[in-house]
Amino acid sequence: MWPNDERCAVLLTFDFDAELLWATTYPRTPSYLSRGQYGARVGVPRILELLQRYGVTATFFVPGATAENYPHLVEQIAAAGHEIGHHGYLHEYPNQLSREEERDVLAKGFAALEKVVGKRPLGYRSPAWDLSPNSLQLFKEAGFLYDSSLMADDFQPYPLEVDGETTDIVEIPVAWELDDAPYYLFNFHPYRAGLSSPSHVYEIWSSEFDGAYRYGGVYTLTMHPQISGRFHRLQMLEKLIQYMINHSGTWFTTCSQVAQICQQQWRNDV
Ligand SMILES: [Zn+2]
Repeated sequence: MWPNDERCAVLLTFDFDAELLWATTYPRTPSYLSRGQYGARVGVPRILELLQRYGVTATFFVPGATAENYPHLVEQIAAAGHEIGHHGYLHEYPNQLSREEERDVLAKGFAALEKVVGKRPLGYRSPAWDLSPNSLQLFKEAGFLYDSSLMADDFQPYPLEVDGETTDIVEIPVAWELDDAPYYLFNFHPYRAGLSSPSHVYEIWSSEFDGAYRYGGVYTLTMHPQISGRFHRLQMLEKLIQYMINHSGTWFTTCSQVAQICQQQWRNDV
C-alpha cells in the first residue's frame, strides 16, 4: 500500500490550540490561558527540536486565530517541512454552530492559515472531534482532501460518505486511546483526573503501533504541545519514536501524503 515497500505509515499529529483550548470552554482567566501559552512558549519549540533530531515529519492542526496570534511559530513549523491542517478559527465546536456559522468558521480558518502559511490547508480536524450533521457536506464544498475527526476504523483510512454517496474525501481515523488529553490533562473544575504516568501511556501506544505494523496500516497519534510538551511526556514520545524507527518499514509522514495515496488507490480500484 505504501511507497518504497514501506510497511506502516506513522502520523504524529499535534493540535496546536494554545489558549483557545481553554478560551472556548473554561473561564478566560490568566491562569487557564497560561496553560495554553505554555504550548506556544515551551511545547512547540521542544517538539520541533525532537522531530528535527529524528528527521521525522508531522502534521500540526492549527486554529486560524492561533496562527494569527503566533505567526512566527506557525511559519517555523511549516518551514521545518511539517504540514499545517485546518482546526477551526477560534477552536469552535461544529456541533454548536448553525450551518452558516460553521461555513463562516471554515472560511475564516482558511483565510488565516493561508495568510500565515502561504497555502491552503488540505485537511481538517475538528476541535474535540465532534462534527455537526452539516460538517461532511461542508467538507465537500470546501474541497478538503481529508478529514481526521472520526473513529469508524483504526489502522485503515476510509472514504467519507456524504448524503449516502461515497466520496473520495479520505477519513484518517483517530481514537481517544491514541490522544494525549484523556491520559494527561488534569483539571479541577470540571474535574479531569489526567496525570497518567508516561509508562502507562507507552504501554498502550506502543502496543497499538504493533497492531498498525502487523496490519500494514496507519498509526495516528494525536497530541497537544501544551500537554505532551512537558519534559517527562516528551521523553516517552522519544522512546516511542525510537521503538518505531527500530521496526523496518516504518514511514513517518504527513496526513495529506497518506490521504493522497489512499485517494489514488481508490481511483485505481474503480
Ligand atoms: Zn484542538
